Amino acid sequence: MNAPLVDRFGRVADDLRVSLTDRCNFRCTYCMPAEGLAWLPRSELLTYEEIERLVGVFLDLGVRTVRLTGGEPLLRRGVEPLVSLLAARGVPDLSMTTNGLLLAEKAEALAAAGLRRINVSVDSLLRHRFAEMTRRDALERVLDGLRAAERAGLAPIKLNCVVVRGTNEDEVVDFARFARATGYQVRFIEFMPLDAEEGWSRDRVVPSEEVLAAIDRVHPLVPVDHGPEPARVFRFADGAPGGVGVIASVSEPFCGDCNRIRITADGQFRTCLFALEETDLRRLLRAGADDDQIAAAVRDAVARKWAGHRINEADFVRPARSMSMIGG
Ligand code: SF4
Repeated sequence: MNAPLVDRFGRVADDLRVSLTDRCNFRCTYCMPAEGLAWLPRSELLTYEEIERLVGVFLDLGVRTVRLTGGEPLLRRGVEPLVSLLAARGVPDLSMTTNGLLLAEKAEALAAAGLRRINVSVDSLLRHRFAEMTRRDALERVLDGLRAAERAGLAPIKLNCVVVRGTNEDEVVDFARFARATGYQVRFIEFMPLDAEEGWSRDRVVPSEEVLAAIDRVHPLVPVDHGPEPARVFRFADGAPGGVGVIASVSEPFCGDCNRIRITADGQFRTCLFALEETDLRRLLRAGADDDQIAAAVRDAVARKWAGHRINEADFVRPARSMSMIGG
């Protein structure tokens, strides 16, 4: 095992997000236009062999968590064998973020392949609003997917809910009730300036404190230690199952103890969700670089990782890629 990946602020990067595709079968209004985006040609996507090899290099660099993301990762054919490959590589914590549309039919095979846990994006529990926000009338299928994930033993099950002012902030208490009824953890994510249509504005952000206050008034909350993960997590004071979390990227940035790094579907290494520069690992792979050369490039990029995003600074520059082209 090589020395861990430590940046100049002393943060250890051990949580790798790997995007399997930029394509998605939803059209979330805070992410992409109704017509979708210009998808990457297949030849530009990392192959499963390339992903497996890269993950091997990162494991040697101390990565412990590998999260498969997208676009929508379950859209990529043969994802189950990839999960098996990565599990066989000995990834200690293998998880996925999905929109859940294909989960009902795939949960069992994913669990059998070695997937441990899952995050599912659900922005509304109201059928009509879910359809408005995702441009897909698919709430029931996603709820079926959650139940299938539970039956398959994927745990814990976490829901990611992006809260957008004027759209779904009136549902946060209902989501807390849903968490209590199911035992899931619902995390409320502040809307970030990563939407492809650049419609983000600060007044559409619902600060996490506001979300927590609304829930706490009805279901008192107790903070729970959450380690380096981005979400601040809470349990219910009355001992009810489930919990809630907040990811306050805009109102309370948590970059100071960031442990996350990313590989895009086309093999670009990003040390931050909002990074303005990338390292082309695909070019290295396809040019015949060996694992040490790839590890050196990764270590060099992490060493140069910036302190954090600059959303709240006057000089903030949006990354050239939107969310679906980076991966959650
Ligand atoms: S914005 Fe970048 S540095 Fe900050 S927590 Fe997210 S990935 Fe880490």
